[in-house]
Amino acid sequence: MYNPKSLVADEFIDHQEVLDTLEYAEKNKDNVELIDSLLEKARPRKTKDGVSCAGLTHREASVLLACEIPEKIEKMYELAAEIKQAFYGDRIVMFAPLYLSNYCINGCVYCPYHNQNKNIPRKKLTQEEIKKEVIALQDMGHKRIAIESGEDPVANPIEYILESMKTIYSINHKNGAIRRANVNIAATTVENYRKLKEAGIGTYILFQETYHKESYLKLHPTGPKHDYNYHTEAMDRAMEGGIDDVGLGVLFGLELYRYEFAGLLMHAEHLEAVHGVGPHTVSMPRIKRADDIDPSTFDNGIDDDVFAKLCALVRISLPYTGMIISTRENQALRERVLKLGVSQISGGSRTSVGGYETEVRPHDTEQFDVSDERTLDEVVRWLMEMGYIPSFCTACYREGRTGDRFMSLCKSGQIQNCCHPNALMTLKEFLMDYASDETKKVGEELIKEQSKNIPNEVVKNKIVGWLDDIEKGQRDFRI
Ligand code: SAM
Repeated sequence: MYNPKSLVADEFIDHQEVLDTLEYAEKNKDNVELIDSLLEKARPRKTKDGVSCAGLTHREASVLLACEIPEKIEKMYELAAEIKQAFYGDRIVMFAPLYLSNYCINGCVYCPYHNQNKNIPRKKLTQEEIKKEVIALQDMGHKRIAIESGEDPVANPIEYILESMKTIYSINHKNGAIRRANVNIAATTVENYRKLKEAGIGTYILFQETYHKESYLKLHPTGPKHDYNYHTEAMDRAMEGGIDDVGLGVLFGLELYRYEFAGLLMHAEHLEAVHGVGPHTVSMPRIKRADDIDPSTFDNGIDDDVFAKLCALVRISLPYTGMIISTRENQALRERVLKLGVSQISGGSRTSVGGYETEVRPHDTEQFDVSDERTLDEVVRWLMEMGYIPSFCTACYREGRTGDRFMSLCKSGQIQNCCHPNALMTLKEFLMDYASDETKKVGEELIKEQSKNIPNEVVKNKIVGWLDDIEKGQRDFRI
C-alpha cells in the first residue's frame, strides 16, 4: 500500500502507485485544461518576503512528462527557466569528482568497477596520493568535490573514507582549500552516516540507479547492493545519522524513464513527509560507455529531447532542489539544460582513480567516458560568456545553513543578497589565483556588471570592499 510516510521502501515507492500514476498520465496527456492548470500551479509567486513555488506532485508532473503537445512542452521549458531564474539567478555551482578507490564487491551490470571485471587494474589511493590529487584539484581552482568510491568493506572501510576526508580538508596548497566534500559511497548504517557527519560531509549522494525493484534486483545481481530495500532506505538512515543534505539520482537508460521520474518524485515526497525537508540535490546521469560496458545493450536509453524535458520537469516539480549535471554529457547538451534548471556542473573532471595528478588523461581505471573534456578554466570562461556566474561558494554549508535552514533561505528571497555576492567573491578568488588572462578579462567585466545587481545597498558596499580586499591578497570572505 502506498504510504509516503512509511519507512519501508516498497511502501513509499509503491510499484502499483507508480503504475497507476503512469496510467493516469497517459489518460491525461492531451487534457489541455489540466495541463494548463498544472503549469499555472507551478508558477513562481511573489510573497511578502520573497518568491515561492508550489512544485508538483509525482502524479501531476507525470502528466506533463507524458504530454507531447509541442506548444505545451515549450511552455514547460519557459516555466523551468523562470523558476531557475527566481531561485538560482545566473549562478552555476562548480565541483569535481575525486575517485578514491575502484575496489568493489558488487556486480552492477552497468558499471565497469563490477567485481567480475578482470580487465581493469584495481587501485586505491594512499593518503599521500590523495594529497597529490587534492593539490592538483586545488591548483585548478576547485573548492568543492564529490568523493567517489566502490563498495568494499575490506579495501575501503568507512575508516578509510573518514581518514581520506580528514586528509582532503587538511590540505591548503598556496591559496587552495577544499571547503566542501560531498560523498558518494554505497548505502551504509546510521552509525557510519553519523561518522561521516562528524567528519564534515557536505551532501551525502547516493544514486538509486532504478526505482523499479524487479529490474534493480537483476541489474545488481550480486553483492550488498543487491538489497533493494537497504539501498532505497539509505537516505532515511543518513538523515537519522544527522546528515541534513542528501542527493538523489537515477541512472537514466536502465529502466523506462517515466517510471523512474515518478519514483524519483515519490522519493522526494517521502523525504519531505518524514523529515520535513526534501533532497538537497538531484543528479541527472545517463549511462555511458566504459571499459566493458556498452550502453546500447540497455534498452531504455533516452535521447537528448527526452533528457531536456526531464531536466525541465525536475526543476518545475522540485523548485528548491539543486540539479547536477556531470561531464558525462557534452558541451552542447550541458548548454541546453543549463537554461532548463541545472544549477551545478562539474568541470575539468577525471573519472579514474588518481586521474588528476598526471598530465595526460588516464583511461585504465575510468568509471565512464567523459564527454566534456575541457579544462576548468575553459568551462568557467564558457559559462561567463553565456552570462552565467560560475560559483565556488560553499558558504551555506560552512555557516550551518543546511537542510531546512537552507530551504528557508531559498524561500526568504534573500538569495540575491547572499548567494549572489558569495558567488561573485569566490569567482573573484578563482580569477586572481587560477584563471588564464583571457578568462580573467571576461570575469572581471562580469563581476563589475553583476555587483550592481545586489539589491541591498549595505551589502553591496560591503561586497565592493571585500572584492577589493581579495584583489589585495585576502581570501575566504562570505555572507
Ligand atoms: N559505489 C557507490 C554506490 O554503490 O552507490 C557509488 C559510487 S559510483 C562511483 C557513482 C555512480 O556512477 C553510480 O551510482 C552509477 O549511477 C554511476 N555509474 C556507474 N556506471 C556508469 C556508467 N557506465 N555510465 C554512467 N554512470 C555510471
